[in-house]
Amino acid sequence: MTKPQHHEIVVIGAGICGATIANELLERGKAVCIVDAAPSPATACSSHAYAIAHPHIGKGSPRLLRLTRIAFLLAEARWKNVWDQHGIFQPTKKDRVFDRTETIEHLRSLDLDEDMAIAMDAQEAKKFCGVEQSGVWLPRGAGLNLHKISKELLQEHQQLTCMWNTRIARLEELDNQWHLFDASNKLIVTANQVVVACAMEAKALMNSIGIRLPLRPVRGQLSIFKVQDGDSWAKKLPHVGISGDGYCLPAKQLEDGGYQWIVGSSFDEGEDDLAPRESSDDFNREQARGLVNYSEGDLCSLIKIGEFVGVRCVAGDRLPIIGALSQRPGIFLATALGSRGILWSALAAKLITAQLLEDDFALLARFGFATDLAAALAPARFFAGAAPSALGALASNSKPIFPAESKAK
Ligand SMILES: Cc1cc2nc3c(=O)[nH]c(=O)nc-3n(C[C@H](O)[C@H](O)[C@H](O)COP(=O)(O)OP(=O)(O)OC[C@H]3O[C@@H](n4cnc5c(N)ncnc54)[C@H](O)[C@@H]3O)c2cc1C
Repeated sequence: MTKPQHHEIVVIGAGICGATIANELLERGKAVCIVDAAPSPATACSSHAYAIAHPHIGKGSPRLLRLTRIAFLLAEARWKNVWDQHGIFQPTKKDRVFDRTETIEHLRSLDLDEDMAIAMDAQEAKKFCGVEQSGVWLPRGAGLNLHKISKELLQEHQQLTCMWNTRIARLEELDNQWHLFDASNKLIVTANQVVVACAMEAKALMNSIGIRLPLRPVRGQLSIFKVQDGDSWAKKLPHVGISGDGYCLPAKQLEDGGYQWIVGSSFDEGEDDLAPRESSDDFNREQARGLVNYSEGDLCSLIKIGEFVGVRCVAGDRLPIIGALSQRPGIFLATALGSRGILWSALAAKLITAQLLEDDFALLARFGFATDLAAALAPARFFAGAAPSALGALASNSKPIFPAESKAK
């Protein structure tokens, strides 16, 4: 019998999350083995080619708002070469009246200055964004193809070992090492440190070592519509992204003069069925009306030409789970990215690497990351009776150097 491979660091899952973490570790000079059940990277939720990224400015816990700003800056810096910066407009909620002073104050309180977020009335928005609604213009907002970047992150590298078609079914700690087994109980690989970045399946893997994670699936379908040249919708189509109740990308003109317009997405709680549904397209047609404020638009003019269906992994409190698992030294979790795969994978790469290598928190601290934010992401937040120290980011053996609470919001 051949001896299983041993690696210092194994990452389970080669979606955008695992790929970004593995790439960061490679850049830091570490050797990494990445294991995925599929034959190539980004075949599951990260097969998504039409994702958008922007800091969150709406309602939400103050920590979520601070975290999305930090994660946005990290994502923008990380992917600057492929950052499709078309800008994103966020319309004022339909039940609210636009108040410029109040909006500006709110944006400043989030530490978003004018180069990141600008309050606009409907006339200004029409002029700058082609969207006749009041709201906030996020000029640095962008689109990204998760599938393409995950593949690029895992290009051949001397220090990278990829194990495809390999599904890990359970973990076990033996002689101070982690042993990773498949479903037939065959030992696949051993490792000193394991990063679990396999979305919903993190639940089963954590179960195998006595850790219960509150994860659930949320199905989502994005619709690719065609609008014929000359249709009344054509005048309403945006040349920027819009994020509100749903989101859309800028419309693209096709060779025949018509337009391709991508609109999403449904949010089907507790469901994980990947089959496309007409009802989800109908839902997206309604969202399309709301996004461009065209309630009288004929829904039949939005002709379906394609779709993306994926299953998001979401935690009970809607924040991602990122950090060292203090109860099981050597295990690091990066899952529950929900609808913010771009932002949270950029943050996870920095945070997990810093914890795993026990250094370099300085960069994160510079971006405003602090102990309270690390605690908000830490897996230990779900475990009753976890000691406050276990809630910190530095629950492994690393040395805390974060400010206790960041001044940056
Ligand atoms: C409709 C929709 C719209 C979205 N829009 C956006 C958006 O606009 N912006 C944005 O940032 N995000 C968006 N997202 C979210 C984003 O797609 C996800 O957050 C992201 O892709 C999750 O990445 P991941 O690497 O955590 O998981 P996945 O991409 O699901 O990767 C998990 C990987 O783990 C592997 N795996 C699973 N189990 C095992 C195992 N036991 N052993 C080995 N390997 C295993 C799988 O094969 C897979 O490759 C959207 C999602 C949906 C569904």
